[in-house]
Amino acid sequence: MIDQYNRVIDYLRLSVTDHCNMNCCYCRPEGECFQRKQASEVLSLEEYYELCTCFAQLGITKIKVTGGEPLVRPGVISLMRRIKMIPGIKKVTLTTNGLKLSEAAEELSQAKIDGINVSLDSFSPACFSQITGVKDGKKALEKILSGMEQVIRLGIPLKINTVFMKGRNEEELDSFVQMVKKWPVSVRFIEMMPIGEGIRFPTVSGEEILRRLRLMEGELTVFHKTLGNGPAVYYTAEGWKGQIGLIRAVTEPFCRSCNRIRMTADGKLRLCLAYEQGIDLAAMYRKGMSREEIKTEIQKAVFQKPASHPFDQWRKTGRETEGRDMWQIGG
Ligand code: SAM
Repeated sequence: MIDQYNRVIDYLRLSVTDHCNMNCCYCRPEGECFQRKQASEVLSLEEYYELCTCFAQLGITKIKVTGGEPLVRPGVISLMRRIKMIPGIKKVTLTTNGLKLSEAAEELSQAKIDGINVSLDSFSPACFSQITGVKDGKKALEKILSGMEQVIRLGIPLKINTVFMKGRNEEELDSFVQMVKKWPVSVRFIEMMPIGEGIRFPTVSGEEILRRLRLMEGELTVFHKTLGNGPAVYYTAEGWKGQIGLIRAVTEPFCRSCNRIRMTADGKLRLCLAYEQGIDLAAMYRKGMSREEIKTEIQKAVFQKPASHPFDQWRKTGRETEGRDMWQIGG
């Protein structure tokens, strides 16, 4: 699909649930008044499959399964396996907080999943608990790390996504560097976006992380190979097994080359992280519209994809357009 700015849209982020087994302070903090969707509002696995077939026929080739926490949704791996077999789909990947990864790794490997992203913000049990709301941080970290080791052993490409917060986990840069020295993984630092609770936390910029990295490690080489669907710039150094990526979504937006759309767990197509604007695919499917009719509506909507997000503006004036938080969209 091509939008009004001639961008090729070939990447779909598919949220399979708005339930999560963590309560990250910048995403969905415990005790906040949040409203999960009724089970009947959330798409069934069959509905996901049918809609993915429409997307594939329209030129979507890469699908990232997200949430909430996707691994808490029963049947999600068999859904991924089925989606992978849809003609035109080249890559199906998963993003997870890793709490249930060790139980799922073998099945994910059998389903021939193309890659896994683990969101991990801290290696310190106390800080991890503070960020995620998980009480036993030590046990949770052990589970997550053992899941990641299994993923590496099974040969599934692994990335770690990290969001730094001023005064919390930003001092842990060295632990993440140690990880890429030891493991063949990509650690990507994503700038805090002013979405939902994220607006309360100042962004540690990619530039700042790069400055600290250079101080610690000296000369870095820009890693040119494309790794995945994303807009990260990668760096590596002598002796590292992996690489570090910087995703400067706030300080250097990549909207001009944005190739992605999103579908929420209740079947709303979203054209940009920052805007509610989109169409209700669940309603269309449930009222019996044909595949061809649904595809026409998707194409019309995608054409209208906004030019760019207004994060910069939001930081100055507060959030104006977005209604949902990240856990409801899928990141
Ligand atoms: N539970 C899954 C996971 O942990 O990967 C998928 C959903 S989670 C919402 C997806 C990603 O969004 C996580 O990496 C999380 O750190 C990130 N995220 C949430 N709120 C954010 C924000 N305001 N700015 C940047 N990233 C955010």
